[in-house]
Amino acid sequence: MLSGRPPAPLNLARIPPLPPGQTWGIYIHVPFCRKACHYCDFYFTPRSSLMEAYVEALLAEMRLYSPWLEAARIETVFFGGGTPSWLPIPMLERIFRRLESFATFSPHEITLEANPEDITPEKLSAWRALGITRLSVGVQSFSPRVLKTLGRWHRPGQAQRAVEAVAQAGFASWSVDMIFAVPGQSWQTLQADIDFLVREGVPHLSFYGLTIEPRTVLYKKYHRGHFPAVDEEAYAQQYQALHEYLKEKGFQWYEVSNWACPGHECQHNWRYWLRKPYLGLGPSAHSYVPEVRWANGASLVGYLQAIGRGEFPWAFWEELTAEQVELEVWMMGLRTRLGVEWAWVQRQASPQRKKRVAAQLRTGSLVRSGAQLVVPQEKLALLDSILLAI
Ligand code: SF4
Repeated sequence: MLSGRPPAPLNLARIPPLPPGQTWGIYIHVPFCRKACHYCDFYFTPRSSLMEAYVEALLAEMRLYSPWLEAARIETVFFGGGTPSWLPIPMLERIFRRLESFATFSPHEITLEANPEDITPEKLSAWRALGITRLSVGVQSFSPRVLKTLGRWHRPGQAQRAVEAVAQAGFASWSVDMIFAVPGQSWQTLQADIDFLVREGVPHLSFYGLTIEPRTVLYKKYHRGHFPAVDEEAYAQQYQALHEYLKEKGFQWYEVSNWACPGHECQHNWRYWLRKPYLGLGPSAHSYVPEVRWANGASLVGYLQAIGRGEFPWAFWEELTAEQVELEVWMMGLRTRLGVEWAWVQRQASPQRKKRVAAQLRTGSLVRSGAQLVVPQEKLALLDSILLAI
């Protein structure tokens, strides 16, 4: 078992071949943001002067992976960030041309994360013309007070106009990212936000509970006593109220933070939860092929230098043990509506774990649903403690 720094030499022979019949999901990390939102700990840089160099390096990174990318169908692509919508259209075009040069490129879903301040009619039609099928809009809230607390760049009116424009733009699917459990955010505010989005016909919503991550503005404020976090009980109540309201509006939950109308679940994200192979390109991007995980370093400059030397920019490498694989199946599976297969539990779990699972079945924290073992929706707010208990 190996975990930590990648083993030398860094080359494709380190990556196991894809299991037969498997496909690729490609994640492209676009590491540029205008400024840091107060809650965010994702890797980004505000140095937009490096965008050109970044695109060059990204194309070179794809060349390094060519034999692997040519070996299996590229089924989904996800441009995440950072702020992919900040990337000028001609640069995105170059990335698409390179992707399209792979004979295996026939994705049924290409998602781009977009921030409201970047959404214009011109960009919307250019994104569609490129082949983007799904937009994920980072709204977070329409309340001026909440946006100020979160340190977001956009204003509420701008976000509303962006959503209205996306609704009319004709993408096969689209989604909005929202945040709950922000101190000072009332249920009425959340409800009004959902009502607006439903009126606009949004077919997919992600609601993330605010967490206070190290190395963020909110973390510093919290530790100085200037920011009151929402307590666990209020968090769970808000989460449940959200769920009930979304269900009433025709959405089905399919993962702890995601709700969709029929036919609009995010296929790329399912790859992570079902532990299918994915390749991450760009600084800080993670990759997985059974049973190896690896990650690029979280530094644009380091990334440009490594690619410039013709090397993979890997900073982390891990070969998973059978025990780690089992834990991941539990952790990824139970956060989704599919849960884990009951037959797999019977086959795989140790006698001690089977006893612990039986105890959770007795309390109703786990239930049998056909051939699956799932966490019932009303217990999802307790997912972490359920995972600890089994
Ligand atoms: S939340 Fe999004 S826009 Fe804000 S800093 Fe993080 S990645 Fe950038």
